[in-house]
Amino acid sequence: MRTPLIAGNWKMNGSAALINDFGSAFADVSLPAALDVVLIPPFPYLDAARQAFRNTPLTLGAQTLNPVESGAHTGEVSGRMLKEFEVSYVLVGHSERRELYRESDEQVFDRLLAALDNGLTPILCVGESLAERDAEKTMDVVLRQVGYAMTRLAPEQRQAVVIAYEPVWAIGTGRTATPEQAQDVMAGIRAYLAEFSTAFAEQMRLLYGGSMNAKNAAELLAQPDIDGGLVGGASLKTDDFYAICQSAG
Ligand code: 13P
Repeated sequence: MRTPLIAGNWKMNGSAALINDFGSAFADVSLPAALDVVLIPPFPYLDAARQAFRNTPLTLGAQTLNPVESGAHTGEVSGRMLKEFEVSYVLVGHSERRELYRESDEQVFDRLLAALDNGLTPILCVGESLAERDAEKTMDVVLRQVGYAMTRLAPEQRQAVVIAYEPVWAIGTGRTATPEQAQDVMAGIRAYLAEFSTAFAEQMRLLYGGSMNAKNAAELLAQPDIDGGLVGGASLKTDDFYAICQSAG
């Protein structure tokens, strides 16, 4: 059985005050017993979040990491540093990093390896643009992104990865993939993973991301190959994020 996972990616949003709001709103809440909940704020808030989330089910994620452990890399943060702040998860390959910061599959892979080397769970983000979907290239693009990483990892490393399918055209647009569209692609990802081994494919957690909100989450999460969500905008409101977590039960 795969434990559902709801992750809130704040991107470059939020504030120290909002961290405290989440700490209060999620203190002593009752969430589905088998559910992992991760909040992924910008780096400067990680330490405050670590303290504010002590009595909550919220665990911590980071939005990226540098592949290198330390050194002359002004502006960068390493996996070892994240680990010091009790970060458990880290996003790699988010489409905004691929687009705005020109991260290639190779660079994404280097980050993913650094995450694994530091005992962090990488959430590998993949997804097609609207032009690629219209050109019927969705599965080519998604399996290229997934395959680049999976074929280069040892079996025990592969198992430690979470994959998030985020169609780029659904991110921040209010245009969610229909549950069927998301399920189709995610079933395709799982079928690809089954080429390594069926047992491996069955235990891999696949998240959907792209305009997931309190209204549409239940229907998306009810799909057989959707094991959770990577939530952007709706993770900035305590009520909405809580409601999404509830629908993952
Ligand atoms: P939205 O939920 O705002 O569309 O963002 C999705 C996302 O990119 C999460 O990583």
